[in-house]
Amino acid sequence: MGDLTRNFSRSEFACPCCGRADVDMRLVEALQELRDLAGVPVRVNSGFRCEKHNREVGGARRSRHLLGEAADIVVKGLTPERMYRLAEQVEAFRNGGIGLYPQQGFIHVDVRGGRARWARLDGKYVALDKSAGQRIWTAAGRPEEVRATDGKHQKALQSEGGNDHATA
Ligand SMILES: [Zn+2]
Ligand SMILES: [Zn+2]
Repeated sequence: MGDLTRNFSRSEFACPCCGRADVDMRLVEALQELRDLAGVPVRVNSGFRCEKHNREVGGARRSRHLLGEAADIVVKGLTPERMYRLAEQVEAFRNGGIGLYPQQGFIHVDVRGGRARWARLDGKYVALDKSAGQRIWTAAGRPEEVRATDGKHQKALQSEGGNDHATA
């Protein structure tokens, strides 16, 4: 039992350096929805981050983790591609941010209220459009065919928080 929703507790979102957990309930409710769809445990690797901790992990200056609107999660037993597809089924994430970290084995989800999609591959962030997204989860194993966008999009991606964390 969680103290925020059926399966989530505030402590799961706490910043590891200071224990602050100013988490947005829209995020927690969307995660509960995802958890109900998955039917298996969802682990929060990173939830709320204070400014100091965000700097230490190389997060974007305007990372959604600073606002308590983002979580990096692992859904038990699913590949990151399947986690990504599952997140697309939750309205708040579908209309928010979803980041795929296939080589680190997790996804980022946030409730920014605008659509953003990216993947981190070989240490680089690439924007995902819809068709590229479909290609990555039909590919077997390590995704190869993610379409990178032009320079303008790359720049927008970084300032929007696509460059959300240099590390897991
Ligand atoms: Zn902290
Ligand atoms: Zn994140």
